[in-house]
Amino acid sequence: MMLLPNHLSGRWTSGTGTGSVLRDPVLGTELVRVDATGLDLPAGFAFARTQGAAALRELTYRARGELLAAIAKVLQANRDAYYEIATANSGTVKGDSAVDIDGAIYTLGTYAKLASTLGDRKYLFDGDATSLAKDGTFQSRHFLVPTRGLALFINAFNFPSWGLWEKAAPALLSGVPVVVKPATSTAWLTQRMVKDVVDAGVLPAGALSVVCGSSAGLLDALEPFDVLSFTGSAETAATIRSHPAVAQRSVRTNIEADSLNSAILLPGEDATSPAFDLFVKEVAREMTVKAGQKCTAIRRAFVPESLYDATAAALNARLGKTTVGNPRNETVRMGSLVSRAQLQSVRDGIAALRQEAQLLHDGDTHGLVDADPGVACCVGPTLFGVRDGDAAHIVHEREVFGPVATLVPFRSVEHAVSLVRRGQGSLVSSLYGSDPAALADTAIELADSHGRVHVISPDVASSQTGHGNVMPQSMHGGPGRAGGGEELGGLRALNFYHRRAAIQAGSAVLAALAG
Ligand code: NAP
Repeated sequence: MMLLPNHLSGRWTSGTGTGSVLRDPVLGTELVRVDATGLDLPAGFAFARTQGAAALRELTYRARGELLAAIAKVLQANRDAYYEIATANSGTVKGDSAVDIDGAIYTLGTYAKLASTLGDRKYLFDGDATSLAKDGTFQSRHFLVPTRGLALFINAFNFPSWGLWEKAAPALLSGVPVVVKPATSTAWLTQRMVKDVVDAGVLPAGALSVVCGSSAGLLDALEPFDVLSFTGSAETAATIRSHPAVAQRSVRTNIEADSLNSAILLPGEDATSPAFDLFVKEVAREMTVKAGQKCTAIRRAFVPESLYDATAAALNARLGKTTVGNPRNETVRMGSLVSRAQLQSVRDGIAALRQEAQLLHDGDTHGLVDADPGVACCVGPTLFGVRDGDAAHIVHEREVFGPVATLVPFRSVEHAVSLVRRGQGSLVSSLYGSDPAALADTAIELADSHGRVHVISPDVASSQTGHGNVMPQSMHGGPGRAGGGEELGGLRALNFYHRRAAIQAGSAVLAALAG
C-alpha cells in the first residue's frame, strides 16, 4: 500500500514506522498509509523559518499574491484527482467535495486579488502617525511586519482542502511559511495538494511543508515567533493551550473549536411565508451538506411556539427525501461520515440527545443506497425536538458532528436569544424574517457571541451565500466555546501573521518609512 511521504526541509521524507492506514469510509477498503515517525521536526522547522521565510519576505505583497494565483492554477489543473480522493477518503458526494475543493480555490483567488490592493510593499501601516511632542516633531506610527517564524496548521478531518488553503492564503500573502499537519483520517487530499504545488515549483523551498500522521513533537518544535492555528475539538484545544510552546514561549495561537450554531425564525411569519420556507430549506440543507460534518452547521433551530409543529412537519418531509449511501451512485444526495470512529461518536451523540429530546425524524429509517450498513460509515439525517428549551441541557452543550439538529420553540425574541446564548459562543447564527428592523435588532444583539450573523429575508433569497458557507470576505471564528479564534475576514486575516510595532521617530524618519 502506498506510503505518502512528508515534505520537510525542502525534501520528500517517509516516516520510519508503520504509521496509520487511511480507509474508504463507504467501502471499508484500505487506501494509503501515512507516517511521521523519525522526522527531524526541529531541523525541518528551522529550514522553513530560514530558507522559506527569507525567500517569501524578499517579495512584495503583490508578488506573493501572484504566488497564490499560481497555486490556484495548479489546483485547478488537478481538480479531477482531488474529487476522486475526496470520494474515496471522505465519502463525500460531488457537491460536498466542491465545498472543500472549489471553496479552497475560490479562497486562494480572493486573496490573490486582495494582494494587489496592498501594492509593492513589504510591510503594512496601521493607522496614521500621532504626535508625541507639542511641536509635532516627534511622532508615533504603528506598523505591521511579517512575523519571522513559521505558521503551523493543525487541521480537522472535515476540510482537508479548504482547511489548508483558507489558512495558507493569508499566511503566504503575509510572507510566512506554512507547515500543515492534516487530521490523519483524511490526510490524503491535503498531502496530494501540497505535493502538486511543491512539484510545480511555484513556491520557494521551505515555504510549504506537510507532516502526515502523528502530531507528536510538533508543538515542542515551535519557537516564540511562530504562530499556531488549530482547528479541531475543544479537548485537543485545551491540551494545546497548556503546552509550554503556548504557555511559556508565547506562540501566538488561533483556535477554532466546536460550536452549537443556531438558526432563528423570527416571530411574525406563518407556515406560508417565504421566510418560513427559507428557514426550513436552510436547516435541512445544513443538516445534510457534508453529512453535517461542518463546524458551521446548524445544530439548534429555534421557531416561535406556534410554528413548532408546522416546522417539524416541513423538515420531516424534506429530510425524508434525502437519499443516503455510496457517493458514487448518482441518486445519492448525502454520503458518509469520515470514519468508524466518527460514526460511533455521532451514534453516541444521538443516544445522548434521545435522553432529553423527542425524535422528529429518525435517521435509521433511511436505507442505504449501494452501501453495506455493516461497513459504510453512513447515518441518516436525524432531527430532534425539545418542547422546553430552558430545561434542556444536552442540546445546548453537545455538538453532534453529523447530520443531526434539534428544533426548539421560543416564546419571544428575548427568549430565543437567551436560548441561543446557552451555546456559550458560536461561529454563526442565522436569522429568518421579513421585518428589517426586527432582523437588525436581533443581529446586533447576537453579534457579541458570534463570529458571524447571517440574516436572511426574502429579498436576498437568491443572492445569499448560505448559513454554513464560509466566505473569505467575512470573518470565520467565534468567541467562548467556539475557541475564541478569528480567521479570514478579507485582509483582517493578515493580522495574525504580522507583528504590530510602534515606531517613534521624527517626521523625516516616518516619512522615509511611508515610502
Ligand atoms: P481533534 O481530534 O481535536 O483533531 C484535530 C487535529 O488535532 C487533528 O489533526 C489531530 O491529529 C490533531 N491532534 C490530536 N491530538 C493532538 C495533540 N495532543 N496535539 C496536537 N494535535 C493533536 O478533532 P477532530 O475530531 O478531528 O475534529 C472535529 C472537531 O473539529 C469538531 O468538534 C468540530 O467542531 C471542530 N471543527 C471546527 C472548525 C472551525 O472552524 N471552528 C472546523 C472544523 C472542525 P490526528 O488526526 O492525527 O489525531
